[in-house]
Amino acid sequence: AFDVLIVGGGPAGAAAAVYAARKGIRTGVVAERFGGQVLDTMAIENFISVKETDGPKFAVALEQHVRAYDVDIMNLQQAVELVPGKLIEVKLANGGVLKSKTVILSTGARWREINVPGEQQYRNNGVAYCPHCDGPLFKGKRVAVIGGGNSGVEAAIDLAGLVQHVTLIEYDSALRADEVLQRKLRSLGNVSIITSAQTTEIHGDGKKVNGLSYKDRTTDEIKQVELEGVFIQIGLVPNTEWLKGTVALSRFGEIEIDARGQTSVPGVFAAGDATTVPFKQIVIAAGDGAKAALSAFDHIIRSPID
Ligand code: FAD
Repeated sequence: AFDVLIVGGGPAGAAAAVYAARKGIRTGVVAERFGGQVLDTMAIENFISVKETDGPKFAVALEQHVRAYDVDIMNLQQAVELVPGKLIEVKLANGGVLKSKTVILSTGARWREINVPGEQQYRNNGVAYCPHCDGPLFKGKRVAVIGGGNSGVEAAIDLAGLVQHVTLIEYDSALRADEVLQRKLRSLGNVSIITSAQTTEIHGDGKKVNGLSYKDRTTDEIKQVELEGVFIQIGLVPNTEWLKGTVALSRFGEIEIDARGQTSVPGVFAAGDATTVPFKQIVIAAGDGAKAALSAFDHIIRSPID
């Protein structure tokens, strides 16, 4: 059995692994995709002490740092069930069962999909989720951003500096982003904002996106916008479906943690984007991963000797 078993190999899981291994305890990491979301990221300019790097480079650095220690990395493995107990079990999709004294959940999050016709067909051919990664592909073109929360408005501001025109589409009657972002957005000359609009379809010519339809929710009229790209920014979903009923989750599905990273299950800790932590960022996930590992170690040394 492990002393610390970490589920998830993003910045949170990698930091937890390094901190746990440095205590000289048996440490394992199970990850569907070691590296996590940073694999889908281009420029990273806000990881303190690293002025500039890119996602794939950062992911390699994470893995090298973990591999410098005696950590059992089980990559390309999906955890499907957590069974609490004196020894906690993590069941894998391949049928395997791992046992550990403590578990750290760091399964991160993924983009929410809008589930309209055209979204899957034109994914990566005009349908995008990541302005940082794909924004430059639409230089001089027309795009829409779906979603008027902070991420949507930030994306629209970001894209407005690159593309010819941005249409921001919000389902509600008002944008939900912070006022300062909305003010910035409204000050830009090449942005239109459409509220009370339900996106109904993303159109294309069979190869690439060429438009989008939405229903005006005040009149029920269907309208079309011609464009070359659609950025979907309707939120991040925590990868916690497999924990429902075992670990307390918030109404958004985030793992509830206290200031030490402890979850509702004794011996189970959590860190990073999968949790209720208010800001989803690499440096925050990594810091919380370190914290969760130290809490797990503390839990182990305080456990009764068997
Ligand atoms: P993740 O990185 O999501 O890692 C989760 C890990 O868990 C992965 O290894 C995944 O495969 C694994 N996993 C999930 N479910 C299971 C399961 N059931 N079983 C086993 N393994 C599982 N942050 C910044 O600070 N700066 C930026 O510039 C920046 N740019 C970004 C750009 C993009 C396009 C994206 C998507 C994110 C960006 N972020 C940025 C956010 C940052 O990537 C995240 O905050 C950070 O990666 C969260 O780390 P994490 O370890 O909590 O989760």
